[in-house]
Order: sequence, then C-alpha cells, then structure tokens
Amino acid sequence: MSTAVCWLRRDLRLHDNPALRAACAEADAVVPLFVLDPRLLRGPRMSRARLAFLADALADLDARLRERGGRLVVRHGDPAEVVPAVAAEASATRVHWHHDVTPHATARDANVAAALQRLGAHHVAHEAVVIQPPGTVRTKAGQPFKVYTPFAKAWRALGVDEPRAEPGRVTVPATVEGQPPPTLADLGVTEADRALAGGEQAGLARLERFLAGPVDAYDARRDLMAVEGTSRLSADLHYGTVSPRQVWAGLADEAAHRAFADELIFREFYHHVLAAWPEAATTEWSPRFRDLPWGGHGPAFEAWAQGRTGYPIVDAGMRQLASTSWLHNRARMIVASFLCKDLLVDWRLGEAHFLRHLVDGDIASNNGGWQWAAGTGTDAQPYFRIFNPVRQGQRFDPDGAYVRRFVPELAHVPDRFVHAPWTMGPLEQEAAGCVVGRDYPEPIVDHAAARQRALEWFATHARD
Ligand SMILES: Cc1cc2nc3c(=O)[nH]c(=O)nc-3n(C[C@H](O)[C@H](O)[C@H](O)COP(=O)(O)OP(=O)(O)OC[C@H]3O[C@@H](n4cnc5c(N)ncnc54)[C@H](O)[C@@H]3O)c2cc1C
Repeated sequence: MSTAVCWLRRDLRLHDNPALRAACAEADAVVPLFVLDPRLLRGPRMSRARLAFLADALADLDARLRERGGRLVVRHGDPAEVVPAVAAEASATRVHWHHDVTPHATARDANVAAALQRLGAHHVAHEAVVIQPPGTVRTKAGQPFKVYTPFAKAWRALGVDEPRAEPGRVTVPATVEGQPPPTLADLGVTEADRALAGGEQAGLARLERFLAGPVDAYDARRDLMAVEGTSRLSADLHYGTVSPRQVWAGLADEAAHRAFADELIFREFYHHVLAAWPEAATTEWSPRFRDLPWGGHGPAFEAWAQGRTGYPIVDAGMRQLASTSWLHNRARMIVASFLCKDLLVDWRLGEAHFLRHLVDGDIASNNGGWQWAAGTGTDAQPYFRIFNPVRQGQRFDPDGAYVRRFVPELAHVPDRFVHAPWTMGPLEQEAAGCVVGRDYPEPIVDHAAARQRALEWFATHARD
C-alpha cells in the first residue's frame, strides 16, 4: 500500500486544498499531519487569540477528516525532525505542503526539505495560501511590482481558477500514531481568549453570511468604525480555514464587489512583496528610510499601547485591540499613523504589539500595513500622509458610537466634542463627567505641532 504525507500548516481545511487532494490522488493512504512547533507556539509574537483559534481549527479539521474515514495526526516538536520521522514511519516518499513566504516558513521548509532528501524522500510544494503564486505577477520587464494599482491590474489579468473539490474518503494508516488535537488548555489559553470561533465550518459559515448580504453594502459601510460592515474573514484567511479562492469564487459579480475584491488583492500584494523582498520583514522596504532615528519603548509607546493618548479615536482602537483581539482596518491605519508619525516611535514595535494581540496577526499583511503607515513601504506618498486623529474620528465615527463603546469615560460627552474632549469648556467637562486630565488623559502631543515635527524629521533623516 502506498502512503503520502500531507503536512498541513496554514491550510486547515478540506475544501480547495491542492496538497491534500494531490496526496489522496497519488497514494492509497495519506497522513494528514499537523506539527505543533514550540518555536511558533511559544514565540514572542504569538497571540493568545490565535492559539485559541488554532485549537478550534485543529479540532474541526480532525472531525471533518473523521467524517471521511480519516483523522488528523498531531505531533509535537521541530518540523525538521518530526516530518521526516513521520514520512519514515509511514514509508512515504513524498510529502505535500503549501508554499508559505514568511522568512520563518521559508527557512523551516528548507530544513525539512533537506532532511527529507537525506532520507531519500522529497517534498512537493503546492500553492493555496494566496491565489496567484508569489513570483507570477510581474511587470512587463519581469520585475515584481512595487505599487498596488498596476499589481492588481496584472493580477486580475491572470484569471482565477475554480476552487478544488474536497477529497472523498481519506484513509490514514493505522500504524501512524498521533496525539489528539490540542485543547485550549494544552495551548495555555482559556475560553476567554477565544475572540472568534475557529475552524473550517465556522469560517465557511462566516463567508456564507457575508456573501448573503453584507458584501453588497461593503463599499458604503466598510469604513464606518461602529458598524460591522466587513467580512471578519482575516483569521480564516490567515490559518486557511477558508481558502482565498473560495472567497473569490463567492463574488458572483466581481465588478459589483470591486472594493472587497481589491482588499483580497491587497492581501495577495503584501504576500508577493514579502516574497520578493524578504528583508522587508525586519527592515524598511524603501532604502531611503533605513537610517531614521526612531524612538523605542518608553512612556509614549506605553500610553499608545494602553489606549491612553488623550485622542479618543486612537484610544478606542487600542482598547478594541486589547479587549477583542481584532481591530477595524480604519482604526489600524489611524493608530499606526499616530504611533509612527505623531510619536515617532519605531513601526517595528507597533508591528510586534499587533502580532502579540491580533487574532488575525499575519506577517505579510501586518508588515505591509505598518510599513505603509510608517511611510517606509510600498506607497507612492511615503511620509507626507499623516492622519489627523480628530478629523478621522469625525469622518468615520460621526456620532462617536465607536469611541464611546471602547472609551467609557466619554459616554456623556456631546457628539460635537467626542473626538476632541479638551475643546470643551470647564463647565461642559464637569457636566459630561469627563474632566480632561482627571477622568480622561490630556492629549499626549499637540497633533498640529507633531505633524510639523514629523515632516521635518523625515525630510532631515531620509536618504536622497
Ligand atoms: C497597520 C495595519 C496592520 C494590519 N495587520 C494585519 C494583520 O496582521 N493581518 C491581517 O489579516 N490583516 C492586517 N491588516 C489589514 C486589514 O486591516 C485586515 O485584514 C482587516 O481589517 C481584517 O478585517 P476583515 O477580515 O473584516 O476585512 P475585510 O475588509 O472584510 O477584507 C477582506 C479580507 O481582505 C484582506 N485585507 C483587507 N484589507 C487588507 C489590507 N489593507 N492589507 C492586506 N489584506 C487586507 C484580509 O484578508 C481580509 O480578511 C493590517 C492593516 C494595517 C493598516
């Protein structure tokens, strides 16, 4: 009996899973393997919400495989040791997985591939983390794109295949043992850390709900911060509990849902950027901005992280992140701009803070978003874009419902002051139960002065 291994990582689903399908098609039996890698699980950038999501996703995948006669084989340890060991136990000569572009995954996969080769086995890397494989969307001169809009045009021109069908029966060799899928407690988290139900079934249900209606209003509502106007599929797309191709296929009319389709392509763009410039994971993508004397940890960073900057929209965002492990995209842009431009704190600290808290923390999208906000990334307008936190609040949270939800100190502040409570007179502050400096912090910086300081700072320190 021939056996193949399918090493699952960020593809925790049965639908549209080319690696699993290929393994099932080529062999009589398959080992669907997940390796709990302590370097990732206990790493400084892991979030409790992602661990809870992962526990749900693995339990769900095991249940789905059992419905097809199989099971998930869970092992613990360094993949460079575990994957070849499982291949040897199963007498499998081929291990299938999906290509992943993060620096950690690239190095890890190279180690596993080398270890397999030493055993006389080899790996087959399929594509499914993003729709268009990194490296396939190129300029006419064959270069990777540095700007989103032409990337999106070239991306669309390639066309998108239909999602692959689920495998039918999955036969797992009885001799290959594994541990049961980890519980929340095994991963060191609790129910309280569950920000979102994880797993393929929960993800597909989320997708279905979104496509059944909210997608039609996406363009009009996605920027309104108090409204649930977006898909909430980011954690599913990160762990692959929903395939990006499945989401794309659900857009019956791409032209009518262009704004949403563009966000999916943004996700692809940042994966392609990271694949082409892996050094961007740690350094400024643009060489012009590699010598900036950014600030580090200190009181300004702490005030930002705790949601105590005195700017309601910034504080609401940071408290939403702390209390729900998720953050509205508009809020991500506002708080990131504030940290980098108003406070001149190193974007890498904000990036790491996000990863430690987000349920959807994703190296490619997070790095892309932070470098965009810091003005160091792929953007035609590098550092002149500085978000005004008061105007952003007035525009995208016009009645203050979002800030009041996360910053209860502002509950009784009248709408016209809710994004700038320090502009109330002393009597109004008393009447609203929000005396600035006593009940709610004074603004940590004056935005107009901070903006001017940032413009001069960038102009002085950027390379020509
Ligand atoms: C500073 C900053 C950090 C970010 N960090 C992350 C992160 O760690 N993980 C993450 O998945 N997204 C990140 N984003 C992108 C975006 O904010 C989230 O994907 C989005 O808010 C998730 O909510 P949703 O699923 O409801 O999005 P929707 O609006 O419903 O979008 C659908 C999907 O498109 C993708 N997408 C949407 N916007 C973007 C974008 N700007 N860049 C890349 N992909 C996008 C996501 O996969 C998302 O699930 C970041 C953005 C910024 C500005």
